[in-house]
Amino acid sequence: MDILQLIRPHLLHLTPYSSARDDFKGKEGIFLDANENPIGSTVTQSYNRYPDPHHSELKKKLSEVKKTSPENIFIGNGSDEPIDLLIRLFCRPETDNIIICPPTYGMYAVSAELNDVKVKQVNLTPDFQLDTKRILENADAHSKILFLCSPNNPTGNLLRENDIESVVRSFNGIIVIDEAYIDFVPHSSWLSRLNEFPNLVILQTFSKAWGLANLRVGIAFSSLVIISYMEKIKPPYNVNGYSQQTAVQALQNEEIKNKYVAALIAERDKVLSELKKHLFIKKIFPSDSNFLLVRVNDAKKLYNYLTDNGIIVRNRSSLPLCENTLRITIGTQEENKRLLEVLECYKDN
Ligand SMILES: *Cc1c(COP(=O)(O)O)cnc(C)c1O
Repeated sequence: MDILQLIRPHLLHLTPYSSARDDFKGKEGIFLDANENPIGSTVTQSYNRYPDPHHSELKKKLSEVKKTSPENIFIGNGSDEPIDLLIRLFCRPETDNIIICPPTYGMYAVSAELNDVKVKQVNLTPDFQLDTKRILENADAHSKILFLCSPNNPTGNLLRENDIESVVRSFNGIIVIDEAYIDFVPHSSWLSRLNEFPNLVILQTFSKAWGLANLRVGIAFSSLVIISYMEKIKPPYNVNGYSQQTAVQALQNEEIKNKYVAALIAERDKVLSELKKHLFIKKIFPSDSNFLLVRVNDAKKLYNYLTDNGIIVRNRSSLPLCENTLRITIGTQEENKRLLEVLECYKDN
C-alpha cells in the first residue's frame, strides 16, 4: 500500500512553518530570535521561552517505555488533536469520507464534520464487535480512514483481534485504533504489531490511566511516513512545556500508574458485582476499561435520580444499540461506596 497516494495531494509539497527553534538547534547562547520576553514571566514560574516543538525528550522516554522508535511517535495536544490532524492529512473536504463503528467515541464524527468530510456509520454487532463484512461493503474509493476504538467507548469492551486483523488486511486506507483505555488491558495493544502495517495508526493518551487529563497529552504511533506528515502539518508548539515535562516524569513512575490500574480494576469488579443485585439493572456489559456501561429500566429517570443525589454519570441512551444505558466511570473507593448506597435507595416505579 502506498501511503503517499492516500495523502491529500496539496500537502505532499507543503513547506511547514519553520520556528526559531528549527533554525537554530543549539542549547547555549543569547537567544534573540523568537521575540520572547527575556526578563521573565508575570508569574513565579518561568514560562517565558517557547517549548520544544519536536517533543524530543518525551518521545525518547516514551520510546523506551513503549519499546518503539521515537520516529514512530507523534505527540499531540490530547489524542483529539491527532484525530483531527489525520482527517486533515488524508481526507479532502466534500469528497472523501471516514468510516466509524457506532456506538463509539464522538470526536471522530465531530472532527470529520468540522472538516466537511463525510461520515459513514457501520454499527457494531449487538455484542459490540466489528461487523467486518459490512465495513468492507460500505468502504468506497473515497473511504480514507477507518476509526476503531478498542477498548471501545462507551461500551467498554475490546474488539476481537481477528476481526481487527481482517479489516486491517482488507481496507485500502488508514486504520486508526484508538487505545485510550489500553492501560487497563496492556497485553492487548496493537503496538507490538505496528511494523506489520504501514497504514496503521495507534492512539494512546495520558488522560486516563496516567491521570494527566488536565495536561492534554496524547500519542499517535505509526509508520515513519505517516508520522513525518503529521509533524509537518501540526501547529508548531502544539504541546506546552509544562505538559511535556510532566509527561516525562509520569513515565518514570510507571509503577504508580500500574497501581492505579490494579486498584481501579478491583473497584470495577466490586461495583459490578454489587450492581448485579439490583432488579432495575437489566444488563452490565463486560468491561476492559475503567467504566461500566449498564442497561437499566429507565435511563433518564435513574440519571436524574443520581444527579439529584450529587452523582453525575453519562446517559448514552441516544447512541445506536445503547437504548436505556448509562456509562458509569469507576471512582475512588469512597465515591463508589456512595454510588452504591444511593442506588440502594432507588425506587424503580
Ligand atoms: C478519553 C478518550 C480519548 C482521550 O482524549 P484526550 O484528548 O487524549 O484526552 C480518546 N479516545 C477515546 C475513545 C476516549 O475515550
